[in-house]
Amino acid sequence: MAISLICPTKDPDPWVTALRQGDASLDIRVWPDDHPREQVDFILTWAHPPGVFQQYPHLRVISSMGAGVDALLQDLDIPPDVTIVRVVDDALVAAMETYAIAAVMNHVRRFSDYSRQQQQQQWQPLAALPIQSTSIGVMGLGQIGGAIAQRLVSLGFPVRGWSRSPQKLTSIQSFHGDTALPAFLAETQILICVLPLTPHTRHILNAHTLAQLPPGAYLINIARGDHLVEPELLTLLDNGHLAGACLDVFQTEPLPQTHPFWNHPQITITPHIASVTQPVSVAPQIIDNYHRLQSHRPFLNPVDRRQGY
Ligand code: NDP
Repeated sequence: MAISLICPTKDPDPWVTALRQGDASLDIRVWPDDHPREQVDFILTWAHPPGVFQQYPHLRVISSMGAGVDALLQDLDIPPDVTIVRVVDDALVAAMETYAIAAVMNHVRRFSDYSRQQQQQQWQPLAALPIQSTSIGVMGLGQIGGAIAQRLVSLGFPVRGWSRSPQKLTSIQSFHGDTALPAFLAETQILICVLPLTPHTRHILNAHTLAQLPPGAYLINIARGDHLVEPELLTLLDNGHLAGACLDVFQTEPLPQTHPFWNHPQITITPHIASVTQPVSVAPQIIDNYHRLQSHRPFLNPVDRRQGY
């Protein structure tokens, strides 16, 4: 039995090295190199070409190289009996936390405004937003959102969170389900989206929901580009309802040269770098799942294909 790596947008070498360091006996193949597809029962993948899994008649498990599995679940050719697993990794979560803190602090301490002032050689102190009374709402209270919410609490922010099912987190006002979304949004001055992309959450950041934030609210999207209806964000920025946005993810990546976000004075852009999975960090859990497959034990971090995450 063998593992195949299918990651056309990533260099497979560090992955192969990390997996071999963890278990030298692994039989690892890299797509699209020539290899007997019928020997592969476990695939490790990112940004796979749709339909590619059909080449593997004995496939049993597909492991995402990252936390998100939206690209996998959009591939309707994956047989229902193939298990999908994802990575859950402390280093990945920590990187998402530091990104969220940087984006929040950039906004509350007005660094984007000072950057603009610097370009005009303008010396003009601006009022910072007070931490104790700037309410932050985290959409998605899972591995990443829960950690971000807790970290922001430790910095002194009032934090609220929204999830699908009820979640109890210390010092966090939690909301769940669609009916609670308006109440969650109504007092969220900084909104951080860390939801998985599912049919239910696609385009959840739209004119209707963003308009329910208080005037002057700020958006941070570190989940997926398709959570946001991009033209509707522009409308809310341009009519003054939102103060700004920090975006790491986009409907089309890389962001096209002609995209209006590039030159918008209230938008901060980063090129999908909030967190990048480190092969050395996640190789042990991938190897563990491979051994679990061989010994018919329950998998780590399985994805609920029905819920979409
Ligand atoms: P988890 O599966 O651990 O958590 C998902 C959270 O979202 C849960 O709290 C879940 O609710 C909630 N949720 C799901 N669907 C809904 C819904 N319909 N309504 C309300 N809440 C919902 O995911 P992670 O925290 O590990 O990752 C989240 C996402 O972050 C990934 O899917 C990925 O897209 C993105 N990501 C982005 C990266 C980047 O570099 N920009 C890097 C890594 C991840 P419940 O608690 O009830 O299950």
